[in-house]
Amino acid sequence: MSEDKFDVIIVGAGLAGCISAYLLAKAGLETLVIERGNFPGSKNVTGGRLYAHSIEKIFPNFAEEAPVERCIVHEKVSFMDGSSSVTLDYASPEAADPGSRSYAVLRSKFDQWLAEQAESEGASIVPGVHVDDLIVRDGKVCGVIAGGEEMEADVVLLADGVNSMLGQKLGMVTGVNAHNTGVGVKEVIELSRQQINDRFGCMDNEGAAWLFVGSPSDGQMGGGFLYTNEDSVSLGLVFGLHNIDKVSKSIPQMMEDFKNHPTVKPLIAGGKTVEYSAHVVPEGGYDMVPKMVGDGVLIAGDAAGLCLNIGFTIRGMDLAIASGEAAANAIIKAKEAGDFSEAGLASYKTTLDNSFVMKDLQLYKKVPGFLDNPRMFNQYPTMMTGIMKDLYTMNGTSAPLRKIVMPHLKQAGFMNLIKDGFKGATAL
Ligand SMILES: Cc1cc2nc3c(=O)[nH]c(=O)nc-3n(C[C@H](O)[C@H](O)[C@H](O)COP(=O)(O)OP(=O)(O)OC[C@H]3O[C@@H](n4cnc5c(N)ncnc54)[C@H](O)[C@@H]3O)c2cc1C
Repeated sequence: MSEDKFDVIIVGAGLAGCISAYLLAKAGLETLVIERGNFPGSKNVTGGRLYAHSIEKIFPNFAEEAPVERCIVHEKVSFMDGSSSVTLDYASPEAADPGSRSYAVLRSKFDQWLAEQAESEGASIVPGVHVDDLIVRDGKVCGVIAGGEEMEADVVLLADGVNSMLGQKLGMVTGVNAHNTGVGVKEVIELSRQQINDRFGCMDNEGAAWLFVGSPSDGQMGGGFLYTNEDSVSLGLVFGLHNIDKVSKSIPQMMEDFKNHPTVKPLIAGGKTVEYSAHVVPEGGYDMVPKMVGDGVLIAGDAAGLCLNIGFTIRGMDLAIASGEAAANAIIKAKEAGDFSEAGLASYKTTLDNSFVMKDLQLYKKVPGFLDNPRMFNQYPTMMTGIMKDLYTMNGTSAPLRKIVMPHLKQAGFMNLIKDGFKGATAL
């Protein structure tokens, strides 16, 4: 056994990894985090909205210190065809209430802050190093191989994000495939603070979250998003990979067309793109969650498929944070008992099962199937824009409301509307 053995080695300095490192180091465990990016957050992409409830449990006033962008108090959802849109707009100061508020974040800044919190408690974070393999003896994970060196630990936490190669090597994670994965592209577009406040109706540090359904994903499962940062907006789209053969546009072309849509163009006019990124999103929900505990090993965050796309919002960050916390607590317990076997670490799974993480994944289990329906992203947005167009077109021809609305409902199909409405009610 190596003299340099750590209590815990964490692969990946994303949210799951950094939260775990912070809590483990705080509890006095010798913790090493290995991150392949040049700095924590350098490789990480998110749309932008962090639901704060899980991080507020660990850092109650985190938003006063952490580099959060704006507190989201405006919610918008637009249903779009190629040139028009119908928008639902909800705004409430209550959205900023502690316990349920959310913030726009930029991961390159945010993850660095989180890593600094872990370092301040004594965790060692080594960036710029890729973990290539795991050391496994008699079925127990005993450490990692990185940069040609072997490093040992009582427990290895895989917080290496979606498509965890190490989880796949262990046979615990089946890996991403086109059916359980979306691809996301995102631009950060610089605008002045004042432009953002004026365009999105925000005051001071208030922010807006805006989802776009329909044409951004070329009528297939997916959608566009916009989050307001302090002096930029994060604009992007997510596309369900298994439908790639059903569309004629490439994903970069979808992004270009989205930016040029008459609803979106004025929102970003005069802005300068300062960052472009692309990343895979786990979208399989509950059915994608693998075995998360083995002898000497735990899997957290996106690596364990802990992400929820429920149409009106994507959530992975609050789940990653909660799973990082649960993993740390299980490791601390195992350390006290001196048992790092699968049984000794089993409280990780029990904690997650009893938390919102697995409860929400279970609750929305049917959503991926429900959303995988092109009518949601094609016929229905077109139906909504069509109804609005005809309602507000005054050309001297008289028609009762019924005659205006009915043709659009007929075109979408009454049976489809009933069937999809019923499916939606059971899935959501
Ligand atoms: C386009 C898009 C939009 C999204 N929108 C939202 C949103 O608005 N709200 C929300 O809550 N969630 C959103 N998500 C999901 C969310 O971003 C993820 O769920 C979250 O980032 C998962 O955190 P994590 O710590 O598990 O993984 P990650 O943040 O991916 O961190 C994994 C880390 O491991 C490192 N790593 C991987 N392999 C190795 C290796 N072999 N050696 C060393 N280091 C390694 C990586 O470099 C990375 O730093 C979105 C995702 C995408 C892609």
